[in-house]
Amino acid sequence: MTKRNYATVNPCVMCQPMGSALAFKGIENTMVLYHGSQGCSTYMRLHLAHHFREPVDIASSSLSEKGAVYGGRENLKKGLRNVINRYNPKVIGVATTCLAETIGDDVPAIIREFKEEEGIGDDPEKDIIIVPVSTPSYGESHVSGYIKALDAVVRKFAESQGGERDVRIHNGKFNLIPTESLSPADVRELKEILEATAGDYIFLPDISETFDAPLRDNLPKIASGGTPLSEIADMPDSRASLGLGIVSKNLAVAYLEESHEVPGYSTPIPIGLSNTDSFFTELVSIIGCPIPEKYQKERGRLLDAMVDVHKYLYGVKAAVYGDPDTVFSLATFMLELGMNPVLVATGSKSRDFGKRIKQIFEEIRPELEPVVLDGIDFDSLNDAVSECSPEILIGNSNGKYIAKARDIPLVRVGLPIHDRVGAQRILTVGYRGALELLDRITNTILETTDTFTAPVVEPAAHAGQGEKDECMEGAK
Ligand code: SF4
Repeated sequence: MTKRNYATVNPCVMCQPMGSALAFKGIENTMVLYHGSQGCSTYMRLHLAHHFREPVDIASSSLSEKGAVYGGRENLKKGLRNVINRYNPKVIGVATTCLAETIGDDVPAIIREFKEEEGIGDDPEKDIIIVPVSTPSYGESHVSGYIKALDAVVRKFAESQGGERDVRIHNGKFNLIPTESLSPADVRELKEILEATAGDYIFLPDISETFDAPLRDNLPKIASGGTPLSEIADMPDSRASLGLGIVSKNLAVAYLEESHEVPGYSTPIPIGLSNTDSFFTELVSIIGCPIPEKYQKERGRLLDAMVDVHKYLYGVKAAVYGDPDTVFSLATFMLELGMNPVLVATGSKSRDFGKRIKQIFEEIRPELEPVVLDGIDFDSLNDAVSECSPEILIGNSNGKYIAKARDIPLVRVGLPIHDRVGAQRILTVGYRGALELLDRITNTILETTDTFTAPVVEPAAHAGQGEKDECMEGAK
């Protein structure tokens, strides 16, 4: 769409190692170490801390010019030793950054060497589990960093129990493995739904507390909460896995299915009516549970609200951008609301994004012809917005400059949200999340167009008492 032909300007994605930190931080007693230069860790700590408004510790092997020339082996070992001494974690996620990958450090080999030197084994009960993941940012984005980290964690814990087993010991649990863009409030909502339906479930990663912790007198070095390690070790014995998101492949779900015969399913992120319906349908078919009355009522309230706001939202031209699976679910909801998503875009390079978006338009509003873009930066998004002329933007806070320049409103959804507070409490999933999002979109449009406020007619200053009394009678 952009007419320019130069390097990325203001990427619409974040660095790949940041996605790995989002995943690792949802695991009990886990610390993250970036193998690379210090700036990567500083930038990503700040980025996450500004979004979640929580302290975010990420260690770094602090590669300098010397490490870049001679290799980062000693820096990485020193970094691991420091992390163990200062944080006493049970798991260390080691994610590489661009520099470590460019110089070609063999991180798994360095970790093997380190464990031998320090006498660290592979028993999750007794030893520190170190999980390497390759995440150079020039390769992909935070979306793939998250997916790769979860895959690496699940594999590591499965392998530490002897890898593929001939006989599975079914534990009757249900694995839920989401995508990177959920907020702690979303995770809490999904856990509540699972408690009411699946009962025994494993949610990986669980950021509901680690990225939204209550204030405490003594700040723990590693935030409390996260998926318990014993649960992760149990995942290969679960009855089924459900991955949230259908655009990006959920590697952990695929691994559990291929290597441990745990049936794997996927469903869109449950944003909006039909996507939440699909989520419940999957739960019902996998677990065989009824849908609790509470959620049936919530669904009814959502339908009622959709009817209420239809007159305000019908035909409103919108541009939606962000992570592929979030954008897919948001676009679906906007179509359900009668809106016209003229521009649907993601910063991630994705083979399936365009296909999935076109499918959903054909199913719900085949007459619409959106501009669908993947791998965009904010420069090309700006060009596309100028051509499509949306009346509202829906996406992360980095789109605010485009919104301001064109004097159109922005509804902040996704990651990051840096210019407002409360990102960790934004609920978009489930029927309740859809209701909240619907209110936010509608009220934003109403505020912009001011269509629902009838002009206030002040009574004339010279009106006599009799006239005032008549007015009051009318008001009664
Ligand atoms: S692009 Fe690479 S070097 Fe730059 S901050 Fe991201 S990971 Fe670090």
